[in-house]
Amino acid sequence: MKSYRKELWYHVKSRRRFINITPQVEECLKESGIKEGLLLCNTMHITSSVFINDDEDGLHQDFEKWLEGLAPEKPYSMYKHNSFEDNADAHLKRTIMGREVVVAVTNGRLDFGPWEQIFYGEFDGNRDKRVLVKIIGQ
Ligand code: ZN
Repeated sequence: MKSYRKELWYHVKSRRRFINITPQVEECLKESGIKEGLLLCNTMHITSSVFINDDEDGLHQDFEKWLEGLAPEKPYSMYKHNSFEDNADAHLKRTIMGREVVVAVTNGRLDFGPWEQIFYGEFDGNRDKRVLVKIIGQ
């Protein structure tokens, strides 16, 4: 069995953003040489997400509106966590959108369903963040 590990770094210059990281993840898979196995992709931070969905701008705006409805960024004072930080909403948004995805690797490719793409979801930007890609198989 082969094993591969890589960290992808992101520095989003706004508080929130969704980035399609599928091309970088596919590059990792190519680099690993693994043809059959499993790929895990997770954020290493508690105020960002990795998730799979459609790369469609309207949907991303819907996500933003929905998440702001559930856990608005402001007023910061509405959250107990914000006594020493201002990112309580980011922790909550990340929990809803998830920490990681697992994708089957078949014939050296990500075995996606139609329209599936991997996204990094930033909810508390302006700092360096890492995404872990771990691939096991043969
Ligand atoms: Zn915090």
